Amino acid sequence: MKYAPTIGLEVHAELKTATKMFCGCPNDPDEKHPNTNVCPVCLGHPGALPTPNKKALEHMITIGFALGGKINEVFAFDRKNYFYPDLPKGYQITQLEHPTVLGGTINVEARLGSPKTVQIHHVHLEEDAGKLVHADDGKSSLVDFNRGGVPLMELVTDPDMHSAKEAVAFAKELQLILRYAGVSEADLDRGQMRADANISISATDALGTKVEIKNLNSFRAIEDAINYEIKRQTDLLEAGERIKQETRGWDDVKQRTVSQRSKEEAQDYRYFPEPDIPPQDPSAFDLAALERAVPESPDAKRTRFKEQLGLSAEQANILVEDRAESEYFEEAISEWEEDLQHQLDAAQVALLFNYLNTDLKGLMANAGISFADLKVTQENFADLMDLLSKKEINSRTAKDLLARMFESGADPRNLVKEEGLGQVSGEGELLDVIKAVIKENPKAVEDYKKGKMNALQFMVGKSMAALKGRGNPAVLKDLLQKEL
Ligand SMILES: [Zn+2]
Repeated sequence: MKYAPTIGLEVHAELKTATKMFCGCPNDPDEKHPNTNVCPVCLGHPGALPTPNKKALEHMITIGFALGGKINEVFAFDRKNYFYPDLPKGYQITQLEHPTVLGGTINVEARLGSPKTVQIHHVHLEEDAGKLVHADDGKSSLVDFNRGGVPLMELVTDPDMHSAKEAVAFAKELQLILRYAGVSEADLDRGQMRADANISISATDALGTKVEIKNLNSFRAIEDAINYEIKRQTDLLEAGERIKQETRGWDDVKQRTVSQRSKEEAQDYRYFPEPDIPPQDPSAFDLAALERAVPESPDAKRTRFKEQLGLSAEQANILVEDRAESEYFEEAISEWEEDLQHQLDAAQVALLFNYLNTDLKGLMANAGISFADLKVTQENFADLMDLLSKKEINSRTAKDLLARMFESGADPRNLVKEEGLGQVSGEGELLDVIKAVIKENPKAVEDYKKGKMNALQFMVGKSMAALKGRGNPAVLKDLLQKEL
């Protein structure tokens, strides 16, 4: 029998703010000293009063606009009561009845290569818990409350995905949207983003029994855990057994999901409205200004790159994956077009893309440098491409110059002028060089006349060397053949 999987995701992401959600402690994910950024509010001391972080709520509104969702008519907080050692208050402040954002969609076609839009149910705001560190002796655990009370977004999708690939595409696109919007670094490696997946399978239109897999902390884990769970559930049904509604965890080492608690053991969180925080009125925020400030979405940028610049889908995907790189690329294009006083043609755009994506990014990767620290300005990069495309320098010189620009931030036109690196194209000088090469290599000339094409290539190489790389091999080859 053929079972169709249905998947919904709940994605958590820590919001980028100066201070925590309900107190003035720094929200610093890089703080190495445990229990430094703590106070009576985030430690849950009796009588301490929470004050909602305005920036965190603004970020939530930004997320709502970026996802095309609806900003709710009222934002209100609720208490979710449970005991766990990383939660000193004994409850978490979250939004149950009145989340900040309702609905919204993410289009993941660019990642899947086939049309797919995932519907979002809502996005709410809550506070993160502390972090437990389990000691090596296996007997004790330590707790660090630096993360406790950090603003955390939770996005819940509809059960709208049908494969692990779709779920991963969704999570990756959401990460990119959050980064573009500047609301979260959403770095899974640093625990800033993590997902729970709800998975059921069914052979009919009715949904099957749902199993939740908690705390998936890499894209690989999301993909592997979902694939594992689809297979586990399929095997159970085919063996005539039933699927238990339960919460499972993902064991990355053993590559399998493991039962954590069944429905019968599910906790009753005894939610009730947070008595210390009055409901928030959205009109207290400048919604129009927040909406205007939302940047172009990654998907809109991909479309624009393809339609306006003639990039392939793959090229557009590569550039847009890194907002800084896509902005550098666009800036270099506009610098070059400003110089030329006209639009670039497809070959020029392709040249710029290749030198950026292969050569410049290669240098950056080797040196461990980001676009923010790059010394090669967009203007200088455009100038280098211009010299190359006009054949004033050859590709070998271009690569050498780029490496030097990368070190010093030098202007390529100055380097070419000062060091006479321009490609030699005057026939007189070239002919002198060629004649000398022919004279000095009688054996090669003989071989060439016997029809050995290698010999011609050898003499092109000798000519290039004599010109210190400033010649054009195709032109040299042509002249050599005529001369011989
Ligand atoms: Zn605090």
